[in-house]
Amino acid sequence: MNIAIKNTSTDCDVILIGAGVMSATLGVMLKELNPDIRINIYERLDRIAGESTDAWNNAGTGHSALCELNYTPLEEDGTVNISKAVKIIESFEISKQFWAYLVGHGYFGSPKDFINQIPHLSFVEGQEDVNYLKKRFETLQQCHLFEGMEFSNDFEKIKSWIPLMLDGRNTERPIAATRTSHGTDLNFGTLTRSLCKHLKDKYEVDVFLNYEVETLEQQDDKTWKLRVEDKLTGEEKHVTSQFVFIGAGGGSLRLLEKSDIPEADGYGGFPVSGQWLVCKNEEIIAQHGAKVYGKAKVGTPPMSVPHLDSRMINGKKELLFGPFAGFSTKFLKEGSYLDLPASISFDNVLPMLNVGIHNLALTKYLIQQVLLSMEEKVDVLREFIPTAKDEDWELAVAGQRVQVIRKDEKEGGVLEFGTEVVTSKDGTIAALLGASPGASTSVVVMLEVMEECFPELMQSKEWKEKLGEMFPSYGKSLKDDKELTKRVRDFTFGVLGA
Ligand SMILES: Cc1cc2nc3c(=O)[nH]c(=O)nc-3n(C[C@H](O)[C@H](O)[C@H](O)COP(=O)(O)OP(=O)(O)OC[C@H]3O[C@@H](n4cnc5c(N)ncnc54)[C@H](O)[C@@H]3O)c2cc1C
Repeated sequence: MNIAIKNTSTDCDVILIGAGVMSATLGVMLKELNPDIRINIYERLDRIAGESTDAWNNAGTGHSALCELNYTPLEEDGTVNISKAVKIIESFEISKQFWAYLVGHGYFGSPKDFINQIPHLSFVEGQEDVNYLKKRFETLQQCHLFEGMEFSNDFEKIKSWIPLMLDGRNTERPIAATRTSHGTDLNFGTLTRSLCKHLKDKYEVDVFLNYEVETLEQQDDKTWKLRVEDKLTGEEKHVTSQFVFIGAGGGSLRLLEKSDIPEADGYGGFPVSGQWLVCKNEEIIAQHGAKVYGKAKVGTPPMSVPHLDSRMINGKKELLFGPFAGFSTKFLKEGSYLDLPASISFDNVLPMLNVGIHNLALTKYLIQQVLLSMEEKVDVLREFIPTAKDEDWELAVAGQRVQVIRKDEKEGGVLEFGTEVVTSKDGTIAALLGASPGASTSVVVMLEVMEECFPELMQSKEWKEKLGEMFPSYGKSLKDDKELTKRVRDFTFGVLGA
């Protein structure tokens, strides 16, 4: 579609549902491309970035596949497949270009408030996993995007990288690690609040807090009419728009179903909640300075990868371990226990049943995780920090993920662990489902939404020029161009310091 700017037949040109990182990113990109677009944002909570995007609800890893082993599977022929890893690191480079553009123009405060450089490590134990990590390292070295990564299977060397994790560890068992010093830690909550502040300060876009979008209906002229409830007064109003983005996180599936577009048929959602162990002992927190990802146990889902994360949250260094998975029928952390049953419809019941039948291992894993006591959780942590003491750690609830269930010809239904953009054929509505790799790739995912929904505008001279200004690598492949990668990285590092 083409957004007809200042088309007075609708209340606004674009409605963004939800004030998480996705909506905020799309809003800023659209306003930078055309300041005349009229945007309204509706958020059901009393604050911006209160769900998955809040710093305590996610791990804050700038996902660039430097340490996440689930992005580099070992194939049956014994090779390590790095295609997903390459895609993810390229996406993250694009996110950094966008943030550097905004910081460089003085739209944000200090970049340190939301992005900080921190080493990313993968750590494994046992000969089989050591062999895998070495092969992964060697394969990644064939791509310049992973330059700077080091590999070691030497106890003392690894101890110099992560002393807290090697203290008290059995020296007989083979171990290995890779380390890249230029990984990042993100506070996506602060980033999103900065994006929304920029929308308000420069473009006078307000986020309507405490407003829940209840229904949405397409009119005969293809525009959308939304029923929105003021959560404080209970009053309802109707707003109309040419384009709607459903960036409601776990709430997106229900709204997509209500939109009644045929493209939404067959989608379902499976909620997985999470918990962190949070360190309370300042001395221990000070002894670690890295994000260390382990290997998920055989047969467990990707979100079960254990990791020990140093974080910068609101100016304070923190240390988190997890996530431990749990089960709740809520689709949002501040949602309703009826979310899951209410999402089941005639169109998705079969895919959902099939996923249930074919994923008994996941069900078993979730039951085991839910049954873990606090002591057993610290036992799991001791695989990372052998000297960990129960009294130094406390449990905190992480964000809620809704994994996508999709209709599949062969299987009936499949469970996806990535993100999925669903758009209507006429390009008047788009929704984002799923959770991973998530906020790190928000910029690329929102570019994808714009390409799907506004293909003509994206091809226009004005937008192309502006996109080239916002993204120095726009339209070019970083993986195929070492020189360009260096230039782009020098630029983003120069501005962001990460
Ligand atoms: C445990 C965990 C760890 C993670 N770790 C990482 C990580 O290390 N790195 C990374 O990049 N990503 C990570 N992610 C993923 C990342 O947090 C999400 O992908 C991202 O925050 C999603 O942003 P969003 O804007 O789509 O959704 P959200 O942040 O959930 O925002 C959606 C908003 O919509 C609002 N809303 C919902 N329904 C309605 C309605 N009807 N009307 C109005 N408003 C509504 C909600 O209140 C919410 O504020 C993690 C996620 C989890 C759960």
